[in-house]
Amino acid sequence: MRIVLLGAPGSGKGTQAKQLVEKYKIPQVSTGDLLRAAVSAGTELGKKAKAAMDAGQLVSDDIVLGMIQERLSKPDAKAGFILDGFPRNIPQAQSLDSMLARLGQPLQLALLVDVDQEVLMKRLTGRRNCSNAACGAIYNIYFSSPKTANKCDKCGSSLTHRSDDNEDTVRKRLTVYEQQTAPLVSYYKAQNKLRSVKGVGAVGEIFKNMCDIIEVQIRPLANVMGQAAAAVGKGKAASAAKASAKAAPAAKVAPVKKAAPAKPAKKAAPKKVAKKPAPKKTAAKKKVVKKAAPKKGKPKAKAKPKAKAKKPK
Ligand code: AMP
Repeated sequence: MRIVLLGAPGSGKGTQAKQLVEKYKIPQVSTGDLLRAAVSAGTELGKKAKAAMDAGQLVSDDIVLGMIQERLSKPDAKAGFILDGFPRNIPQAQSLDSMLARLGQPLQLALLVDVDQEVLMKRLTGRRNCSNAACGAIYNIYFSSPKTANKCDKCGSSLTHRSDDNEDTVRKRLTVYEQQTAPLVSYYKAQNKLRSVKGVGAVGEIFKNMCDIIEVQIRPLANVMGQAAAAVGKGKAASAAKASAKAAPAAKVAPVKKAAPAKPAKKAAPKKVAKKPAPKKTAAKKKVVKKAAPKKGKPKAKAKPKAKAKKPK
């Protein structure tokens, strides 16, 4: 399962990515997290990245691409990944496409988490993170404040305010998003890989909508592959090979304009009752005429109109 999560800073894609990791057991690859780790470890790369990050600008493509290449080559990314915060511009998206083409593992879905600008501003400037990386809880002083100011409800550690979550930097980051990252929506639309969900409301509801899209766009392929494997077990190697060969193009997702609502599983078509041989047309006509004719002496009672509900006085 190879997914890119698109969305402005503060759209909640990081939170959703964490839940997707739990559900689908594939790693979240966040360039923001990787860069922050490099900054706090004081590596060369971190030093180079820090100035751009503090200014709300994008870190140079070569730094980020090097990081991504290294991360995606790790064994845990073989079964798939959720890219969060990458790509951030068209050149990065093109490089990602080439990288994945070389691995024979093209991207399957670009999922946009769509949120209005005013909401983003409050979400970002009000965001507070638990300083304990193992806990990772996230709060917001406007929407979900901790019980005790600056203390994590879950583990009691202090809360931190990301240095790039101040109002000035947030404004710059949102501008950068509009100018450089938003064009990726058209980029992935043109590849028929774009789907979107509204990123406002209950986190669980947004997550469910995202999973529904994933199930529709990606899971069918996995299912067909599973069937193919089962067929091999039954000695139907040839048909299995055909099934999997047919399945491969299904990785291209069908275009759907808006977030696809949860599709209920198709009901099995009702069994057709064995058809009686069709009567000749003339015979059929006669039958109808016969049925329609009222019986002598017993005029058919007309269906009474429904009694109107009495209006309360
Ligand atoms: P994020 O946590 O995704 O909001 O990223 C925080 C900061 O890291 C961004 O404002 C950028 O400065 C930098 N950054 C993260 N991902 C990228 C990327 N793909 N390309 C360039 N800079 C990035």
